[in-house]
Amino acid sequence: MSSNRKMSLTVQVLLGMALGIIVGLVINLTGLINHSFVDNYIVNGLFHVVGKMFVNALKMLVVPLVFFSLICGVCGIGDIRMLGRVGGKSFALYMLTTAIAIATAILIAVTFGIGKGMNVATDAQFAGKESPPLTQVLIDIIPSNPINAMANGDMLPIIFFSILVGVSMLMVGRKARSFIEGAEIANEIMMKMVNIIMAVAPYAVFALIAKAVATLGIDLLASLAGYVGVLVGALMFHLFITLMIILKVFSRLNPIMFLKKIRNVQVFAFSTASSNATIPVTMRTVTQRYGVDNSVASFTVPFGATINMDGTAIMQGVATVFIANVYNVELGIGGYLTVILMSVLASIGTAGVPGVGLIMLSMVFTQVGLPVEGIGLVLGVDRLMDMIRTAVNVSGDATVSCIVAKSENKMDLDVYYDPEAGMLDAEDAIHIDESIEKELAEVVEKVKRSEQ
Ligand code: ASP
Repeated sequence: MSSNRKMSLTVQVLLGMALGIIVGLVINLTGLINHSFVDNYIVNGLFHVVGKMFVNALKMLVVPLVFFSLICGVCGIGDIRMLGRVGGKSFALYMLTTAIAIATAILIAVTFGIGKGMNVATDAQFAGKESPPLTQVLIDIIPSNPINAMANGDMLPIIFFSILVGVSMLMVGRKARSFIEGAEIANEIMMKMVNIIMAVAPYAVFALIAKAVATLGIDLLASLAGYVGVLVGALMFHLFITLMIILKVFSRLNPIMFLKKIRNVQVFAFSTASSNATIPVTMRTVTQRYGVDNSVASFTVPFGATINMDGTAIMQGVATVFIANVYNVELGIGGYLTVILMSVLASIGTAGVPGVGLIMLSMVFTQVGLPVEGIGLVLGVDRLMDMIRTAVNVSGDATVSCIVAKSENKMDLDVYYDPEAGMLDAEDAIHIDESIEKELAEVVEKVKRSEQ
């Protein structure tokens, strides 16, 4: 396969994204969005349906993928004590990166004094919702019914159950062998499904982004330029500087290589605004492009999608400073420390799904005594901000996965430093070998005959 062909899927996805932005902007700026045909049949018709189908397809993979890859991960770990170390290290790193993220965001926002002397009139309303309290989060880690947890896509209980199944399989020993082999095969099948879904990504990314941009309050961007500018700046600072310094310091891996290979994951996160829905793509990239062993990635990726939200924390830091300034509330060091603590804790219990950052924000506001309806001020631009911060969230998940894998010697550096490793092109993704096809048909025939 030529490298040109291999490049094509990434390039196609990026093209889909660029085209989506252009088409969305045209629809929005020319006022076409107010045309009922365009609104009903194109933006909320075609784009909406294609985009939602794609997000559903990604979500469809998450639960079985996490379940089987974790079972394989636990069984293939070789030393069960490693499980505790991987858990401890990734938890510590996820909390650390989130705390650093929000602290820097607050510092940057305070330095720029965003929102000072601003008088933004808004009719947008925001009714605060509750995030679950930490005690409940702890209780819910253990599912009373694993099927329920899987049906709801609750990541922490699914992780807990899958690990327990894997550990128990190890305890059962040889008898469980065929089950382990079955899980390996199931995991491989799920990974193939990821490839199939990725093959249609360019079109879906186009639809998702065109719809988001077309319906975005672009006029709001200008009136909130200070907030948006500082927020995007803080997010980029975290992605390119903080995370890359952390990667270099803790693992000595080359950040440039990391950034080159993370693009695909970021585009998926950006267009779906959901770390959870991006899990299949993150998992694929971390294992096949960075060379992280499945025994680490199967845990760190879904765990990170749930508890690690650097980008979301940054939004909370910037929004807190912004709204405190607009409402002329002096938070002081104590207030800001509370904000940092609350955001880090809130990120543990909330899933990586679209818009959850706002729910966490209302919890933080209640804690420090800021008016929750103030969130209405930033509501109009939040969808776009959500897309950008989700891309930062998943980059954090991948960074920590690499650091933990490297420290446990569970990383193939040849894969990490090979620019083409794990690259995919659309034809490759859905390729079926004809001879294998015939062979499998014969197998089915044989089984049928033996049954007669
Ligand atoms: N959409 C984000 C995520 O999935 C969470 C948020 O900031 O709302 O990671």
